[in-house]
Amino acid sequence: MASFPNVYTHRKVADTASKPCEICYKPSASVLVSPENKDFFYVCSGHLKDRGFCSPIIDEAAVAAKKKKEMEAEVERVRKEFEEKQKKKKEKEKEKEKSKDKDKDKDKKDEKEEEKPDEKITLLTLAQKKPEEVTATPDEEPRVFALKKSFYQQRIDKKRNADIAKRNRERLQNPNLFPQVPKSLP
Ligand SMILES: [Zn+2]
Repeated sequence: MASFPNVYTHRKVADTASKPCEICYKPSASVLVSPENKDFFYVCSGHLKDRGFCSPIIDEAAVAAKKKKEMEAEVERVRKEFEEKQKKKKEKEKEKEKSKDKDKDKDKKDEKEEEKPDEKITLLTLAQKKPEEVTATPDEEPRVFALKKSFYQQRIDKKRNADIAKRNRERLQNPNLFPQVPKSLP
């Protein structure tokens, strides 16, 4: 009967629809809703972050997909930067070709010195950015939470009591369910 999974989705209602937090009674527009709306309650942003109350259920696949996308974007960005630099370098070389005369040897030497550290840095950034991106990316605000066991049990109990109360009410409203007074007493 009163059972629902310990999976609560965080939803926001309008500020005008704020209600007291289930735990501390601070008005909040945040609601935790269990699947199929079987249970829901208001919770303040502080308690939403309180790991002693609930913890986020992280959608590993979604997070991984997001990180992969970001990594690819970063690699692409570095690659473009690298290409841009190469292009500029080539343009520079062309200019140098045009104006090459006396200092021919010196120019070549300069170019070589310029080129090497540049490429090195780009490759280094590429190699370094990868692991950095994975850890440094702040996770998206969690949307799905699991309540701590005791709180979850409270919700179950509350729901069960509400169900019992509801059934009792229905019973009271249905006269057929009342024990009948025997019509003919002995
Ligand atoms: Zn609270």
